[in-house]
Amino acid sequence: MDQYSRLKETPFHSENVYCICDVPVLVLGMMVSYLPNPIRCMNCLELVNPSEIPVPISEVFVLSDWALSLASINWLAFNESSYENWADSERTNFHSKLNEVGLGIHGKLNESSKIYYWYSRNMNDVTENCPICKKKMTKTKYKYSSALQCEDCLIAAAPYAG
Ligand SMILES: [Zn+2]
Ligand SMILES: [Zn+2]
Repeated sequence: MDQYSRLKETPFHSENVYCICDVPVLVLGMMVSYLPNPIRCMNCLELVNPSEIPVPISEVFVLSDWALSLASINWLAFNESSYENWADSERTNFHSKLNEVGLGIHGKLNESSKIYYWYSRNMNDVTENCPICKKKMTKTKYKYSSALQCEDCLIAAAPYAG
């Protein structure tokens, strides 16, 4: 075993598995780990090929940069990093820099395709309200999971467990 492998591996997964659903349910920012593509299908949870949406070429750099910020902040939030509190507030505060940039991209992508913005809501928030219009989000069931959604603002979030 190469004891230096950690310093040699790329943080990116070597293989991308893409959605093959007939009608993908596009979502931006859900389950981003170290992949530079932050667009998935909420139905099958696999990646969506950006050329099939298609993502406007003008958005490719800003999208991959944002995905890396999101992945880094998720990493800081879920690992003992001593940045957990800061990272958690970046994720769950709808007005954070992370969400501000993400929502800007979301608006651009929605000019040509319907795509939800995945909001990592604070699980202590029992209201289940849309962070934009404040209306109660509706629960939609998918193949492997379910999500709270606002159809007016195209926001999606995790429901409570149980
Ligand atoms: Zn799919
Ligand atoms: Zn809304």
